[in-house]
Amino acid sequence: MGEHTIPAPELIKEEILAKYPTKVARKRKKSMVTNDGNKDKALEIQANVRTVPGIITQRGCTYAGCKGVVLGPTRDIINLTHGPIGCGFYSWLTRRNQTKPAEGSEENFMNYCFSTDMQDQNIVFGGEKKLRKAVQEAYDLFHPKAIGIFSTCPVGLIGDDVHAVAREMTAELGDCNVFGFSCEGYKGVSQSAGHHIANNQLFKHVIGTQDKEPEGKFKVNILGEYNIGGDAFELERIFEKAGLTLVSTFSGNSHYNSFANSHFADLNVVMCHRSINYVAEMMETKYGIPWMKVNFIGAESTAKSLRKIAEYFDDKELIQRVEEVIKEETIQIEETVAKLRPNTEGKTAMLFVGGSRAHHYQELFNELGMKTLAAGYEFGHRDDYEGREIIPDIKVDADSRNIEEIKVEKSDEEFRDYTKSDKLEWSEYGGMMRDMESGSLVIDDISHYETEKLIEAYKPDIFCAGIKEKYVVQKSGVPLKQLHSYDYGGPYAGFVGAINFYKDIERMVTTRVWDLVEAPWEKSTQVEAQYAAG
Ligand code: SF4
Repeated sequence: MGEHTIPAPELIKEEILAKYPTKVARKRKKSMVTNDGNKDKALEIQANVRTVPGIITQRGCTYAGCKGVVLGPTRDIINLTHGPIGCGFYSWLTRRNQTKPAEGSEENFMNYCFSTDMQDQNIVFGGEKKLRKAVQEAYDLFHPKAIGIFSTCPVGLIGDDVHAVAREMTAELGDCNVFGFSCEGYKGVSQSAGHHIANNQLFKHVIGTQDKEPEGKFKVNILGEYNIGGDAFELERIFEKAGLTLVSTFSGNSHYNSFANSHFADLNVVMCHRSINYVAEMMETKYGIPWMKVNFIGAESTAKSLRKIAEYFDDKELIQRVEEVIKEETIQIEETVAKLRPNTEGKTAMLFVGGSRAHHYQELFNELGMKTLAAGYEFGHRDDYEGREIIPDIKVDADSRNIEEIKVEKSDEEFRDYTKSDKLEWSEYGGMMRDMESGSLVIDDISHYETEKLIEAYKPDIFCAGIKEKYVVQKSGVPLKQLHSYDYGGPYAGFVGAINFYKDIERMVTTRVWDLVEAPWEKSTQVEAQYAAG
């Protein structure tokens, strides 16, 4: 498949748009950009706008982003879905978040699905009573430190006040922090709104609520790492080896106390920019903690990110230890790449996934000598594509205005002045497009139809997306790697993760299984028919 001649992206775009009604074509056109390879300034792309009704999108709802993505990987907060059970099931461990409670009796509620299971009568007469009872029942059974209540579409429509119930129950229970999220599925254009809502409530109700300063000289929080397939475990291993103290990961392998004490960190590093930049900024405003964007996907990116962290702390011993870790881990990386690269060199990939993943995984493909032909985000905003300097130019629309903007102020008692080196980039993210080659296609909120057309035209060696797209892509004879849940693979972060990814991808792009599959219409004569008149 690698030898296939790649058609000009503008022609593919034209062909795709030609099939749409004029109004739809006009709208979709703005979300499809042929990258010009300019490293200083990316081209403008339309993003974070409503999907055209009727188009099959990859997106999830706001509730899924709030409950499923951000809070889902936390093991000791009970996530109670106020709504029909279908919503709860949708966001119940679908991302393969993993967790490792310490030995003994530490709680882990991640395997449970908590819901008020709303029925018709609750929709007619209101569901607050049922919600109160559900909170009480969950408390009586598990005695958790915290319960999060997540609003689904019906809750918003009938007007149940989950925040009032949460306040009442916090007062009544005494030792359980109950807080609510107005994350009804329709609240934003995608799951991205849910991330923002989750960040706001975590900041308001949990972050900084305890004062047990963790021990350690170099204290760091990792934001936007969700421990899919064990990614956070690998980062924990690397951090420990390098002598860095991980205060809290938001929110992979996380627990309530780590969030509550996370304001003691000296640095926030941000993996998935889209899902959590809000927390990074709020913590900087209130506590002074600086943040920097990192990428632990890919061996080179991991090494670069570790060096950036060491440079921030500016400690000779730490810098040396980080270099030793990189040197040690690189041996196996080089051996694996040398063995596999002859089979992957020159192959092609496409990535249409959420958050920063469509950007980060290009690094791993680069390491294998593979070319990314097209990429895009499911729920990205313009700054995720073009870089944060364009934020002031982004028009705030009605959908974004719908999300509560919380007012964060500097805390006089807790604010610390951190020294920031001029050599490092602070609170910055250059976006995906600058790192992509000229001529590559960048498409926001790709539709099912567009996916099929891209595959037909480009015939990529591998396509990366989620479960909704998996089988459609595979039926086209193209292997699909899920980058939301990793199928059954992983971890893919850090050094060990890079090796796992190289091996999985090499296996997928060299397998002969696709040549062996014969579609029914290939072996029997096509039956033709026509409508009879009358
Ligand atoms: S869109 Fe609404 S009804 Fe559907 S899963 Fe999300 S919250 Fe539930």
